[in-house]
Amino acid sequence: MKIAKVIVDIPLMQTDKAFSYLVPTDLENLVAIGMRVHVPFGKGNRLVQGIIIDFEDTKNLAEADKQMSLSVPMSKISENLKEIAEVLDLEPVLTEEQLWLADEMRHSVFSYKISCLKAMLPSLLNSSYDKLLTAANGDESYWSQLTENEKINVMKQVKSGEMTVTYIAKSKENKKVIKFLSVINREKLKNLEISKAAKKREECRQYLLELNGKISQKDFPFSREVMKYFIDNDFLEISEVETSRTQSVFDAIHFDEAKELNDEQMLAFQTIITSSEKPYLLEGITGSGKTEVYLQVIEHFLKKGKTAIMLVPEISLTPQITNRFIARFGEKVAIMHSGLSDGEKYDEWRKIRSGKARVVVGARSAIFAPMENIGVIIIDEEHETSYKQDSNPRYHARDLALLRAKFHDACLVLGSATPSLESRARAMRGVYQLLRLTKRANTSALLPEVKIVDMREQINDKSANFSTLLLDKMREKLEKHEQIILMLNRRGYSSFVMCRECGYVVECPNCDISLTLHMDTRTLNCHYCGHQEAIPQLCPNCQSRKIRYYGSGTQKIQEELAELLPEARVLRMDVDTTKTKNAHEKILNKFSSYEADILLGTQMIAKGLDFPNVTLVGVINADTGLNLPDFRASERSFQLLMQVAGRAGRADKKGEVLIQTFNPRHYAIQLAQEQDYEKFYEREMNFRRTLSYPPYYFTVQVLVSHKNKEVVVKKSYEIASLLRANLSEKAKILGPTARPIARTHNLYHYQILVKYRFEDDLEATLNQVLDLTQERENKDLRIMIDSEPQNFV
Ligand code: ADP
Ligand code: ZN
Ligand code: ZN
Repeated sequence: MKIAKVIVDIPLMQTDKAFSYLVPTDLENLVAIGMRVHVPFGKGNRLVQGIIIDFEDTKNLAEADKQMSLSVPMSKISENLKEIAEVLDLEPVLTEEQLWLADEMRHSVFSYKISCLKAMLPSLLNSSYDKLLTAANGDESYWSQLTENEKINVMKQVKSGEMTVTYIAKSKENKKVIKFLSVINREKLKNLEISKAAKKREECRQYLLELNGKISQKDFPFSREVMKYFIDNDFLEISEVETSRTQSVFDAIHFDEAKELNDEQMLAFQTIITSSEKPYLLEGITGSGKTEVYLQVIEHFLKKGKTAIMLVPEISLTPQITNRFIARFGEKVAIMHSGLSDGEKYDEWRKIRSGKARVVVGARSAIFAPMENIGVIIIDEEHETSYKQDSNPRYHARDLALLRAKFHDACLVLGSATPSLESRARAMRGVYQLLRLTKRANTSALLPEVKIVDMREQINDKSANFSTLLLDKMREKLEKHEQIILMLNRRGYSSFVMCRECGYVVECPNCDISLTLHMDTRTLNCHYCGHQEAIPQLCPNCQSRKIRYYGSGTQKIQEELAELLPEARVLRMDVDTTKTKNAHEKILNKFSSYEADILLGTQMIAKGLDFPNVTLVGVINADTGLNLPDFRASERSFQLLMQVAGRAGRADKKGEVLIQTFNPRHYAIQLAQEQDYEKFYEREMNFRRTLSYPPYYFTVQVLVSHKNKEVVVKKSYEIASLLRANLSEKAKILGPTARPIARTHNLYHYQILVKYRFEDDLEATLNQVLDLTQERENKDLRIMIDSEPQNFV
């Protein structure tokens, strides 16, 4: 008798409790820890998806019987256990390390184990039975995403009351599709009576009963007739699965050889490979050859038979970076980012799980890649906030990297031109080892010359967005056939629509935020809840016709450019122009092959790009972001300016950078001009010390939401008192206050910020806060706990 401990995935019932299930005898040899199963749950015995995290020691049950004289013996209790309905995997999808990691991370992310485990799996493996049922019950949104084949599959499974392994992948034309057979009706199959004469069928039935999951059609060991018999009788079905969808990228790229490292690079390389005792902070100016160091460190560990994880921010997961890795390591590389379809993600995941991929390059979630024998984990641009997930589980990839590096005794390298204050402070205290690259690797490339343009003195009649200085510089570069990057940290045509007569601003009906105008669709959109409406002709408030557009988005700038510099060829890159697959890549390729003079974009053009012909970078409005209600506002602005400046003059032509600002004396802007990280660090640390912010203090934020404003306020005050009562006097508790955007999706949001240094009771208290939602009167209350929050707006 085998009893499995299963944690189940039920959205409304959040618990870390594992439930015990009997393993049916015919499945006993097929189950293992880390496999997904379907189990009956609750009064209705609804089938839900779960993960086996352990087996119960049944010997101990018998022991317990002997020792305790219970009225019902423990071993008897197991007779009342429900049975596992189905095992979904042939091999565990989660490794022992991942199960351990989920236990470790659970405490710091204030989330449930199941949500941690799900974060480690590709989404195709997470689509639960629940979701399929909803689909069958007519949930349009999910249903409409399925292809016809998928719909039929779903209906069949739901009808037969059984689930089989179906990695439904959207099939695409001209991609190879493999046919799989899977058993769909195990119960009926068991009881199937087959006449003695049909020996082959009996054999096949036994085979099918043993076959858990699927087998590719060509490996099916029986004749077509036998197969047809079982298919016709609904015991077996054919499903189609695409083969690796990410294969094609490997064909186009040329092999790249390692470069001879310069002295600074060599020192960094040698230091990193000799010890895994401490994490390294590799601080190197843009273009100093950090990536080259990463590549060679990885190569070193591959030669030793180990594997590597390389994290880059989502936004810079451009073909430029990934191609460098593929060029160096070929098919050993797996790429993981949000631009891949679910099917592609699943393919990459399989490539890693099977050990075929030895290097993973990916965004935040690639930290979960099921690699074994890891030699090195690298986090490039470690200061990027995209390494923190801002929905549950709210983990920071850096923290998980530390855990995994310990587990594997692997080296951890954090790289940046402008490290986060937290990491730099750790390096100063010796927690990390600091390594520096101070020169550009390509010796002919000099650091660009940076100028600040005081926009208060640059009144230009023709344009509020372009100073005469920037326009002149752009003309000069256009004449010399050099290229220009323009950055604007905003999206949309203009920020908002306002009535000139009465000042009315069109706002989202669900969120307290003005709607953004999108000229391509001629609509007003809410960037929070997705609400969309037509641009009003008349002011909804005073019926005036004087509706005007305000602010400047990339679309508006593009139109201005067309008027100011009609001869210039402009490419725009922002959220709107990169919606379609590979749009990102296409724009960059065009720019790189000089089909355009100007690349205009949001902050997504600041990172990782390397265009030798770019000699001018213009920052249209450096102030955006400086005045946000976020203590990291200066740090972010400084990092962004340093990064975008690094795009200029990367080869032998000298680069120039113009920063347009209304705050020319702000230290973040001045020190970005001087390109002096060291001074910025000192200045910013002073500010953080004075106001007790990280890295001097830790922070944790409690977010409270409810559809009724009075309830939110009342509950937030209760929570704040609870925190004040339980934490020491040294903890600083700010709030409750309304969030900067006080209402979204028809919910009101409040926040409480706790700043602390050492608080023994913190975790217990916060768990107590979370448990408030389990109380009946609070069932519509939403509480989220965000440890070291990165986004305050
Ligand atoms: P970073 O990652 O610090 O921005 P990269 O690794 O991208 O820097 O290097 C910048 C440029 O210098 C790239 O074109 C790269 O090929 C080149 N480079 C890096 N290291 C060397 C080296 N040791 N010798 C010659 N060129 C190098
Ligand atoms: Zn909205
Ligand atoms: Zn009006």
